[in-house]
Order: sequence, then C-alpha cells, then structure tokens
Amino acid sequence: MIYTVLFLIILAFVIFALRGTKTKKPDTFPKAWKPLLEEHVAFYRELTPEKQTLFENRMMLFLKEVNIEGVQLELQDLDRILVAASSVIPVFGFPEWHYNNLSGVILYPDNFNADNEFDTKQQDRNIMGMIGTGRLEKQMILSKKALYHGFSNANDKSNTAIHEFVHLIDKMDGDTDGVPEYIMQHAYSIPWLNIIHKEIEAIRKNKSDIRSYGGTNQAEFFAVASEYFFENPKQMEKKHPELFRMLQMCFHTKN
Ligand SMILES: [Zn+2]
Repeated sequence: MIYTVLFLIILAFVIFALRGTKTKKPDTFPKAWKPLLEEHVAFYRELTPEKQTLFENRMMLFLKEVNIEGVQLELQDLDRILVAASSVIPVFGFPEWHYNNLSGVILYPDNFNADNEFDTKQQDRNIMGMIGTGRLEKQMILSKKALYHGFSNANDKSNTAIHEFVHLIDKMDGDTDGVPEYIMQHAYSIPWLNIIHKEIEAIRKNKSDIRSYGGTNQAEFFAVASEYFFENPKQMEKKHPELFRMLQMCFHTKN
C-alpha cells in the first residue's frame, strides 16, 4: 500500500515536471535560444556581442510584461523568440521601452478573418496581423505563418509582426495616424507629413518600390515604410534618403 502511494506521488511529480518544462516561459534568456536567434533574425545577427546581450535582455523584459498565447497551436520556443524579437527591433534605439498599450499577443496558426471570430478555416482568411480593439483592446493578433514568413527573407522589405508593433508605437499618443508623436518631436510633424504625402503619391502612381499597401493611408504608410526600414535599411537609404533619415531620427537608430 505504502509503495502504491509513493509511486503515485512520484508519478504526479514527474507529470508535473514534464508539463512545466513543456509550456513554461523562461525567466532568464535560455542559451538554446541564441542559435535560433542567429539563424532566423538578421537584425540580431548583425549586432555586436554586447548589443546582442542587450537585445536578449530586452526580449526577456518584453516576455515578462506581455503574455503570448497560442490558439489552436502549442507555443514553441521559436514562436516566443520571433514575437519578442519583433517587439524589440523597432524600439532597440531607445534605452528603455514598455509597450503600455499591450498586454497580450494571440498567435493563430494561419491567416484569419476578423469578422468571423478569427476562424482560420474560413475561405476569406486574409488577415496576417492586427491590433485588437473593443473586447480585444491591448491584444495583438498574429498569424504564425505570417510571423515566420516575415523573418524568412530579410531583404523582402516586409515583416508582419514588426508592422503591428509599429502600429502600437504610433498608437501610444492615442491616435494610430502615422504620426508617432510619442517618439517624434513636434517640430518634425509637418516635414514628416510632407514626406508621407509625397511617398504615398508615388506609391499610388506605381512609381515606388514601397509595398503598395503603404498607399492605403498615413498609418499604413508608417507601418509599411518601417518594415522596409528595419528589413533593408541600406536599400532605403539609397532609394528614399529623406524618408530614411526621418525614420532614423524617429527610431533613434543613428549612432
Ligand atoms: Zn497595418
């Protein structure tokens, strides 16, 4: 009898421990994450070793403050790594950053349809990421497929997760309007708007290499141009020097 009880207690411990290691999010940066970051995140790869450590710490701070949840999927390490990296990349130029307007990221396996309770099996599933409103206030919804695709090619100037985090930065002053007053000095608003309008016009006339979705409105322009800026800064500097310098100032990336 006593052995049966002992056996059951040990079994319970083993099950608990196994469950714990499977889904628990780490408190300190796991060594095993480094090769994954090196492999998948070009931005991280190009940092000095000191800055890489800083980047890792910033990722851990984000993971402490924001809860990542998987729907219809079990969260993998790489899911957490790519979400956290996307959150750090646009604000890495700032010594400290807290996404006060975000409490959770909800990851879906595939693109989803916002009108249909995020049913990923619907035919019309075209949304890759979005910032929640109403009952989803302070939530970001992301498609895992789009998240991974964003990091699969560093030079395609597109990255869904960075796009959504830039919307959040834009929204920190209260309006998602393409003018990120929280990080941009007031004096630059008018020159910034002039650049936006010029670039949007070029997109609409099909005379720009900025993704056409950026021509939708000012907020989408800011998010799409920022994807380009973080994915392929060299090309942007060459093709859009004015826009490049403004984004450099905006994101504090100038050394
Ligand atoms: Zn957008």
